[in-house]
Amino acid sequence: MKEVSSGCIVYRENGKIYVLMILDRFGYWTFPKGKVEDSESLEGTAVREVKEETGIDVEIERYLGETHYRYTHSEKGNIDKTVYWYLARAISFDLSPAYGEITRAEWIELGCAKKLCGYKSDSEIIKKVKV
Ligand code: ATP
Repeated sequence: MKEVSSGCIVYRENGKIYVLMILDRFGYWTFPKGKVEDSESLEGTAVREVKEETGIDVEIERYLGETHYRYTHSEKGNIDKTVYWYLARAISFDLSPAYGEITRAEWIELGCAKKLCGYKSDSEIIKKVKV
């Protein structure tokens, strides 16, 4: 089965560059994303999911690329997943994490964020962030 999600690498500047990371419910640091709903654009999904998961409003600046991975869902079986990623600028800054969906949300300095990525494909996508 195939699954498509979309998300953002969200940044803010405050002397240094900070990016918005979440600790997902599986225990890995990653970036906000979620499944694309019917009749929703990839950009629309990415902006909505950042807001829902972290409380942050964003403006998309550019498309960064896609990542692929596979996992086994307890009921749905093997899932072939594609995630489309956008670079987005934060236009609000107060975190309001959706604790049912994620464990934590934090602003992390870009250099640290590169080291914190829990998934290999995220490490590849964050290398493309040059603000
Ligand atoms: P979404 O946020 O798109 O709604 P979800 O929360 O339903 O998705 P995923 O985040 O895709 O589910 O996680 C499902 C499984 O895939 C978990 O075991 C998770 O650890 C793993 N996973 C998540 N992201 C990656 C990745 N980039 N690379 C490899 N495995 C991943």
